[in-house]
Amino acid sequence: MAVARKPRYVDVTNPSLSVDCPRCGLRTARFVDHCRNCGYKLWPSSEVASAAFQAWRDADSSRATASRFDLELPPPPGDLTIDYAARAHELGIHIFPNSNYPFVICAGALFLALAAIPFPSGTFRIVLAVIGGLIFLYGVVGWVLVEDVRMFPSDAPESHGEAHR
Ligand SMILES: [Zn+2]
Repeated sequence: MAVARKPRYVDVTNPSLSVDCPRCGLRTARFVDHCRNCGYKLWPSSEVASAAFQAWRDADSSRATASRFDLELPPPPGDLTIDYAARAHELGIHIFPNSNYPFVICAGALFLALAAIPFPSGTFRIVLAVIGGLIFLYGVVGWVLVEDVRMFPSDAPESHGEAHR
């Protein structure tokens, strides 16, 4: 490795990605060769600054995703799993529970649609309409009145999380 590419001195124990410029006093990226605010030369060259950054970055595994153009380390990758049901409840959004009842409702709707076909026999259509209506109502009641109420015992808006809005 060429001598000139080695960093002169890097305090790798200092976790900061930013530094106060010695000339203007404003905060700037620590491993960029020029101060962002006044152009003061913090490092002899961009290569030296880059080498210093790499030495600093390799000193700690938590710095692996850091960019030398940032002022702060990126936040650690958190758990990206989102509980949409809990989130919706928090925001006061009503979402329907996961349910098989919509299929029952569709089956009922199928019979109701068949009843709408002008068959010659009126009784047949009434039977179809009754069967369809019962299945349809069973689905609606099961979905909206039973499962939904079980999942959301009270849809009254919660007091927490509302004060600051
Ligand atoms: Zn400056």
